[in-house]
Amino acid sequence: MSGLTLYVDGDRWRTHLHAVLERRPGLVPVAKGNGYGFGNGRLARRAQWLGVDTLAVGTYGEVADVAQRFDGDVLVLTPWRPGSPHPDDPRVIHTVSHVEDVRALAAVRGLAHPPRVVLERMTSMRRHGLSGSGLGEASGLAHAAGLAVMGAALHLPLPTRSHHAEVDRLLTDVAAAGATTVWLSHLTTDELASLRARWPDLTFRPRVGTELWLGDRRALQVRASVLDVHPLGRGEAYGYRGRTASRNGHLVVVAGGTAHGIGLEAPTGERSLRARAASLARGGLDAAGFVRSPYTIGGKRRLFAEPPHMQASLLFLPAGAPLPGVGDEVDVRVSHTTTRVDRVVID
Ligand SMILES: *Cc1c(COP(=O)(O)O)cnc(C)c1O
Repeated sequence: MSGLTLYVDGDRWRTHLHAVLERRPGLVPVAKGNGYGFGNGRLARRAQWLGVDTLAVGTYGEVADVAQRFDGDVLVLTPWRPGSPHPDDPRVIHTVSHVEDVRALAAVRGLAHPPRVVLERMTSMRRHGLSGSGLGEASGLAHAAGLAVMGAALHLPLPTRSHHAEVDRLLTDVAAAGATTVWLSHLTTDELASLRARWPDLTFRPRVGTELWLGDRRALQVRASVLDVHPLGRGEAYGYRGRTASRNGHLVVVAGGTAHGIGLEAPTGERSLRARAASLARGGLDAAGFVRSPYTIGGKRRLFAEPPHMQASLLFLPAGAPLPGVGDEVDVRVSHTTTRVDRVVID
């Protein structure tokens, strides 16, 4: 089958997943968006296999896909707002980030089960969350209304500097609000261990996506099929814009285009100085104005002959370069969280 394929070294990947679970007790895998390149359904089955009790998804729209493949609880990371679905689904845990939303959730009539919530405390990320006093107020209201409070949540920025001071300040609010479980992200294993030592009465639940699913890059390889190869003489026209070749070589048509996320971060068609400067910075234009592609042929990153099409890309191979055959696969270096592959093969 032609297309863009994610090949997974299954033994290596599974060993890595187990290692992450071991060094992060209480792990809550995160499956969201493009499923980190694997698809959320596959990650849900993997979470089931790992034996964790809770899986986090990004949005309410992602719940159904994982809930049929994973038996445990599903934590929704996007905060619940009035009108959000599943208020009383016994397997769903809601994130609540406004005092009014606790009131709104408590006011929903005819629920079969008490809604389960975690109360999100705002961090320096400033995405969602309650203030320190808001957390106390929300907690009081939620308990009084009979909601099942499953703890507090903190979404921390990536660990560029130590989180210690910030986390300790936030945990003081969490403890004051009476929460005993803290769902959090982006702490190193050392930071987590030190938190556990300093806050022995709190239970920590690290939410992890990238480090879990993509933490061992050598277990993962994306390859693209070669769809066609054409000789191209100097001066001959090709492509959507009728560009002409400035030297002899070949056009290699490979699977993978904008619909897969290929080339979206590398500006290609733009002729503006800024776009050219940006692509120069990112990987370079050659003398003929070609942009470096993420495809490797014959051990070298090859040039886009023109901007990627929707499902295929044209590469320029100079005369003398080793030619792939139609049906061969070539390596592509992609960002897994922004690429949609056509299939995933786990061996
Ligand atoms: C996406 C997300 C995570 C997981 O982030 P990774 O960097 O992929 O580990 C954790 N918590 C929240 C709230 C998120 O939105």
